[in-house]
Parts: sequence; structure tokens; C-alpha cells
Amino acid sequence: MTQAILTPDTASEAGDGTQIGGQSKKVFVKTYGCQMNVYDSERMGDALTRDGYQTVDTVEAADLVLINTCHIREKAAEKVYSQLGRLAKLKKQRKADGGDLMVAVAGCVAQAEGREIIRRAPVVNVVIGPQTYHRLPEALAKARQGESVVETDFPTEDKFDGLPTTPEKAIRARGVAAFLTVQEGCDKFCTFCVVPYTRGAEVSRPVDRILSEAERLASAGVREITLLGQNVNAWHGKGADDREWGLGELVRRLATIDGIDRIRYTTSHPRDMDDALIEAHRDLPELMPYLHLPVQSGSDRILKAMNRRHTAAEYVKLVERIRAARPDIALSGDFIVGFPGETDADFEDTMQLVREVNYASAFTFKYSIRPGTPGADMDNQVDEAVKTERLARLQDLINEQTRAFGRECVGRTVDLLLEKPGRNTDQLIGRSPWLQPVIVDAKLGKIGDIIRVRITQPGTTGLFAEIAE
Ligand code: SAM
Ligand code: SF4
Repeated sequence: MTQAILTPDTASEAGDGTQIGGQSKKVFVKTYGCQMNVYDSERMGDALTRDGYQTVDTVEAADLVLINTCHIREKAAEKVYSQLGRLAKLKKQRKADGGDLMVAVAGCVAQAEGREIIRRAPVVNVVIGPQTYHRLPEALAKARQGESVVETDFPTEDKFDGLPTTPEKAIRARGVAAFLTVQEGCDKFCTFCVVPYTRGAEVSRPVDRILSEAERLASAGVREITLLGQNVNAWHGKGADDREWGLGELVRRLATIDGIDRIRYTTSHPRDMDDALIEAHRDLPELMPYLHLPVQSGSDRILKAMNRRHTAAEYVKLVERIRAARPDIALSGDFIVGFPGETDADFEDTMQLVREVNYASAFTFKYSIRPGTPGADMDNQVDEAVKTERLARLQDLINEQTRAFGRECVGRTVDLLLEKPGRNTDQLIGRSPWLQPVIVDAKLGKIGDIIRVRITQPGTTGLFAEIAE
């Protein structure tokens, strides 16, 4: 008897589970990290489906386990190694029973660790970085011949050109809200962050590819798209009118696609929030009034040490301009406490900025060292207990703001996109324009409908609503 080691969280279209060369092809995909990783797993799933794989939802049923890793959390690599240790035991058991198990590690930990993964965990057959995963079927074919394959270069070819378009059936299976990567990589080099090293330089996908992917999504029933990029608002490209477009122009064009009723984008850098994008928030009902705009710290000294290239006052002024254009916009952010050299006074500046901006939600992190980043070599690291205490205070403040925002929403009439069944069979869950999950009676509509509701009460994990008269 083997035990479930991982749980599924990535759906992709089931192929027919064909046998090629006498081997069954069943893949279990486990995704960690951000929305970009979810998107990448879906695209790897598409490539594997074309290659004859069927997606299964337990490790036990799989002959290939694909782990799409994230490097942003603390000790990410160690967690991957301990998981690989468990898979090694399963593989040994399989071999003893006359079978086999292949293991592929993808994503940012794969990029950062490279061949070291195979050295420390020989159970792994393929290591593949975020920019090379279009080569996954080819790498697996080599691995099946007994070779250990490491693909972590930053290739000159566009990986998206090497990937199959997602079949309509798979799009439908993934739901009415979809991700669409428009930009990858980062040239900002914040001193705490590993992304420029694992995802590579900033690259924007061309307009025509983005539009055709969005049109495919719309024709398969998708009503909301979230444009993804590590620095999504740094996206730029040549538009149909031959002018250089920024994200604002792209969003304007996407809003004209029949069937796309809602557009979101994440994650933005304050320095790339230009007038055209702010005007898009002012003008386009399709662009949802929600913005994730990380600031990281409220102290100019720390922002400088982080190489964020903006001050706290510039950020606050930017927020004022965005709110002037779209007064009901809900703001979210990312914060790091305990960056090297952060004093009590610096932390108080962060608390002050949070009070001033008033967030609808935010992600908060204790600074943790990422090997290879400048922050890792700074000698004024903050004591762990101090970080813990600061994080708790910041989270209390943000949680209070989130609850207050939920209470403010009670009585508002909003459009809700129904996305999935609720925990109870008589409920459906939709998203408010401000990204809050809203629970309604299942009789009010079906998945994919946009219904007009009135928010009636805040709950622990979302809001409740009834049909608006
Ligand atoms: N590109 C986005 C930006 O510019 O803010 C976000 C990138 S990162 C994937 C998501 C968040 O993880 C960051 O905004 C930051 O708050 C957090 N993060 C990144 N590196 C970190 C580290 N070394 N320690 C703690 N938090 C970190
Ligand atoms: Fe990392 Fe974002 Fe800074 Fe780029 S802008 S280095 S992704 S935190």
C-alpha cells in the first residue's frame, strides 16, 4: 500500500492514456506558487496531452510526477528535496513490483538548482526551467532512454511558439475565468528577489499572440481573463496601428473581444503604472476595479536598500492618481518586514503607509535570504523574533482593513461572475469586481452567468449576497 504523497491542484484535459512503446502515459501534476505557475502547469499539461498523456489526480495512478516549483517561499528548495525523498521511496516500491515512476521537476527551483537536483535526488529524471518547458515532451523521451535531462538555459526561441494551443475542451474544463501570460521575467533586480535570476530578462509576448489566445479563451466560454506577468505593467509591444502599445492600450483592445466581460492583471510595479493604464481604469467597465500594487516597505531608506526605485511618497501619490481615476478601486499589496537594516522606525513608516493607503487586502512576508541575491550578503540581518513580532502587527492592521472593506461592501449592488460550486450543493461561488469570493444560492444562476446581486453580509472566507431587485 502506498500513501498519497501529493494532492492535485492542476486540472488539464484528459488525453486517452495511450500506451506508447509499451509504456502507459499518466501524469500527476503538482503546482506550487503564483498564478504564473498555474498557467505554466496548464501549458505543460497541454504539451503532455498532445504527447499522449492523460492527467490523473493521484500519485499512485501516475507513471510521471511533474512538480512545478516556486522559489519565492522560504526554504523552497529544501521542501522540494524532502518531497523528492518520498517519491524515491515510491519509485523503489514500484521497481520492486516490476513497474517504474518518472519524476520531472519544473519551475523556479529547477532553474535555480539545475543539475544539483539530480545529484541530490537521483529519483529525478528531468529538470526543466520556466523558459524551456516547451521542450518537456522531448526531454521525457530522452529520459525514457535512461538519460538524466537538465534543461535550464534561457533559449532564444519563444517557448510559447513551441507549445500547442490549448484544446477547447481543456479551456472549458478549466472554468470561466482564465489566466493569460503576457509578460515574463524581470529586469528590476530588487535586492531581495530571485525572480530576475530564475525567470530571466523581461520579455513581452507579441500583441497578435495575446489577442488570438484571448479570442480562443472567449470562444470556449471564458468571460474573465487575468493577464499575468512578473512585471505585467512593463508589458509593451507593437500594436495593430503600428504604434508601441503599453498595457493600457492592450487592455483597451482586449476589452473589444466579444465574450470577454472582465479583465484583470497582476503583478504590477509602481514605476510602470503609466497614464494610459490609469486612463484604462477610468474608462473601461471591463477592467475590474482591483489593483495589486506591491510597495514592500514604507521607509525610503529600506526602499532604497531594496532597489525599488521609488519613494513612499511617490507610491502614495500614485495611489491618489489611480483613485482619482477610479474611486472605487480596491488596492492590494505585498510587504516585506525585517529586510536587512530595518529599524523600529523604518517598520513604523510601513505601518504608517498602510494606514494612509488603506488596503482591501495584502500579502505580508518576513524577509528571508535568497542565495545569490544582494540581500543575502547584507550583514545587518534582522533578528527572527523581531521579524515575527513586526509581521504579526502588520497582519493585524491589514486584517482589520480587509474586514472593514468587507463591511463597507454590505448593501452594495454588484455584478458577480459565477465561477464554481460552493461547499454546500445549494450554493455557488462568484467573484465580486474587487476579487472577493461571494456565496449565493445556486438557484440564482449557473456557472458562467454574470448576475446582479446585493451583498448582504461578510463571512469568514468571503461575502454573502442575494439577487438584487
Ligand atoms: N513582481 C512583483 C513585485 O514587483 O512586487 C512580485 C514578485 S514576487 C513573486 C512576490 C512577492 O514575494 C514580492 O512582492 C515580495 O513581497 C515577496 N518576496 C520576494 N522575495 C522575497 C524574500 N526574499 N523574502 C520575503 N519575501 C519575498
Ligand atoms: Fe522581484 Fe518584482 Fe522586484 Fe522584479 S520587480 S525583482 S519580480 S520583486
